[in-house]
Amino acid sequence: MNPSEWFTEQVPSAGTAFSLKIKQKLHEEQSDFQFLEIYETETFGNLMVIDGCTMVSTRDNFFYHEMISHPALYTHPNPKRVWIIGGGDCGTLREVLKHPSVEHAVQIDIDERVTRLAEIYFPELCESNNDPRAELKFIDGIKWVKDAAPNSVDIIIVDSTDPIGPAEGLFGEAFYRDCFNCLSENGILVQQSESALLHLKLIGEMRDAMSNAGLSHQQTLFFPQCLYPSGWWSATIASKAELSAFREQDCVNKPFDTVYYNTDIHKASLAQPEFFKKAFPL
Ligand code: SAM
Repeated sequence: MNPSEWFTEQVPSAGTAFSLKIKQKLHEEQSDFQFLEIYETETFGNLMVIDGCTMVSTRDNFFYHEMISHPALYTHPNPKRVWIIGGGDCGTLREVLKHPSVEHAVQIDIDERVTRLAEIYFPELCESNNDPRAELKFIDGIKWVKDAAPNSVDIIIVDSTDPIGPAEGLFGEAFYRDCFNCLSENGILVQQSESALLHLKLIGEMRDAMSNAGLSHQQTLFFPQCLYPSGWWSATIASKAELSAFREQDCVNKPFDTVYYNTDIHKASLAQPEFFKKAFPL
C-alpha cells in the first residue's frame, strides 16, 4: 500500500485510524483559522478535512446533516427561526430549509473559506444558499450568541468542529448560558456531541454544562457516521422546558426527501444503550 494514495485520520487517544483511498488532492490552504484540505477519493466522492480531521464526504454526509437537523425540528412545535453555529459546508442549512415552517435560517461560521470551498467541491450541499430565507454570516458563533437579543431564536444547531481551537468555547457553560438567554420559551439547542464510545466523558461534561446553564431537559441521539472516529456519532438536544412530543404525523407527511431520516429512524435514534443509561440516568 502506498501511503501517499490514502488519507488517514489518526486518533492517538483512541488508538484508531480511518483511511480513504484517494485519487488526488484537489486543494489545500491555511485560512485565518484552520488548515483546509479537499481530496477526491476513490469511493466516497470529495472529502473535506479541517486540521487533519475528516469533516464531510459526498457519500456519507447525509447521516450527519439529517440527524443534526430533523429530529430537533420535528420536536419543536413550530420552528420558525433557526441558527446554525458552524456548519460552513452548508449541508445543515440545506436540511433546515426543507422545513416549510422555517422563516429565517442563519448560518454563522467563523471561516468564510469553508463555505467558499464547499461551493466549489460540494455544490449539492450549497443548493439552498440563495433561498430568500437563508442568511450567511462569517463571524465567531460565540460572539453572535452573546450579542443576541432574548427570545430571538427557536432552534440553535451547533454544527462545529471538535472542541479544540475556535470551537472550544462552543462546548462550555458560558456559551450555553448565552444560548439559554436568546432561545424562546420552548426553544431547543442541538449540538454534535462526538462518539459515545470514545468521548463519554466529554458528553458528560457537555450535559453538565448545559444543565448548569438551565438547559436541563436533554436527549442524546445516535447515528452511524463511518467517516468519524468509531463510526458511531451522536447529537445532544437540550431545552429549558420539557421537550415537546415528537411531531410524528408531520414527519410521516414530510414534504421533502431524506436519505436516512424518517419516523422509525427518529424513534430508534433516541433509544438509549445500557452503558449510556448507567452513565446518565434519567
Ligand atoms: N460535521 C463536522 C464534524 O462534526 O466534524 C462539522 C462540519 S462544519 C464544516 C464545522 C465548522 O465549524 C467549520 O466550518 C468551522 O469553521 C466552524 N467553527 C469552528 N469554531 C467556530 C466558532 N467559534 N464559530 C463559528 N463557527 C465555528
